[in-house]
Order: sequence, then C-alpha cells, then structure tokens
Amino acid sequence: MERKSFGLGDVVMMKKNHPCGSNEMEVIRMGMDIRIKCVGCKHSVLVPRAKFEKNMRKVIRSAAAGEEGTASQDPS
Ligand SMILES: [Zn+2]
Repeated sequence: MERKSFGLGDVVMMKKNHPCGSNEMEVIRMGMDIRIKCVGCKHSVLVPRAKFEKNMRKVIRSAAAGEEGTASQDPS
C-alpha cells in the first residue's frame, strides 16, 4: 500500500497534462482543497484534496528536502 505524501511548495507531476503542455504543478496552498500552480503557464487552480491525490503521479521536487518518507504533519 503506497501513500502519496506532498507538502507546501512541492512540485508534482500530474497524470494529465495541462492545456499548455506542462504536467508539472507547484503546491501553493494546502487545506481541504489544494491550490496548485502550473509550472508551464503559471495558471493556478483549486482542486479538492481527493481529486488532487488521484490525479498526481509523483513529487518531482520536495520543498522539504531530506525529509522524504516522513509525513508527520498530515493529520489524516
Ligand atoms: Zn499550464
């Protein structure tokens, strides 16, 4: 069972490309909804957390470098 972990400032790869052609998104707000910003065109969108977790493929760059695998600040 693999659990996806991500944090504020992380750059993630999505399963689907944005219309601009990029599939990299930066997490700029955490909460019940996640706000992500397209790395390619800087367009930001608000998506429900469940949908975001379903659509993200992996974290490309973690803002908290070196803390990979320790998702201690996630209450759920
Ligand atoms: Zn875009």
